[in-house]
Amino acid sequence: MSDKIVYLNGEYLPVEQARVSVLDRGFLFGDGIYEVIPVFGLNLLRLDEHLQRLQNSLSRISMNNPLDNAQWKAVFDSLLSKNPGNDRAIYLQITRGAHPVRDLKIQQNDVKPTIFIMVLMVNPIDVNELKKGIETVTIDDFRWHACDIKSISLVANVMLREQATQADVVDAILVRDGCVTEGTASNVFIVKDGVLITPPVSKHLLPGITRDLVLELAEENGINCEVRNVQEAELNTADEIWMTSSTREIAPVVMLNRKPVGNKEAGPLWKKMIDIYQDYKQQLRNA
Ligand code: PMP
Repeated sequence: MSDKIVYLNGEYLPVEQARVSVLDRGFLFGDGIYEVIPVFGLNLLRLDEHLQRLQNSLSRISMNNPLDNAQWKAVFDSLLSKNPGNDRAIYLQITRGAHPVRDLKIQQNDVKPTIFIMVLMVNPIDVNELKKGIETVTIDDFRWHACDIKSISLVANVMLREQATQADVVDAILVRDGCVTEGTASNVFIVKDGVLITPPVSKHLLPGITRDLVLELAEENGINCEVRNVQEAELNTADEIWMTSSTREIAPVVMLNRKPVGNKEAGPLWKKMIDIYQDYKQQLRNA
């Protein structure tokens, strides 16, 4: 029996006792959205931005936000106090709830969403490990035109990640119509001649909170940034390639399609950026 306490529809209870109906539309259709919010010390990283993305995802699937921002914050704080730790993350999922019949049509009456939140324990990133870098391959991005929604319907991402696993690499860089979109669970940056470049937000990628934070910190620290389409061919001549996400933070890609990226080691701009990022996290831990 674990002592993990989760939140389900207004109740705090041990994870083993948390139960959801088999008629839940999240289970039947993947009809729901989620968020992952890193927590350092007692502080949630970019809470307002995460709650804004949550709102955007809900609006995109025609769902009302069941709580306001102050209510979300109160629930997160309460759940965090029941699951003590240092580096943690809030996992939050909202589905359209259980309807009496299995029907794609959304019932407008009696719609009660299912709200599930748990706290994930996170091992602090070991920068020396991260520095070793990761190997990736490019794969055709066959997902839908709604990748800006943080949807729980992740089967396409699972398939793409499995293709990467079968290719014996850590992740894939996805390419649609000749342009880089993102990773299976991260955003992609390239560095060319000292300039940090990432694709613009669109229906083809998730607006990563880490992506925005990296861009903001880079600009604050005098690094030139460009937000523009990145052609697949640019990956082959990039000095550095990074993949960013809440959990992975900023991972340097050192091998792409079996060929070295740059000198096959984490590049100088990555080293500068990871220090800035670690400092930012430390400030949150101390706040
Ligand atoms: N793209 C996809 C498809 C993702 O799943 C994620 C991580 N959830 C990201 C990008 C990165 O987003 P964030 O920086 O908010 O973790």
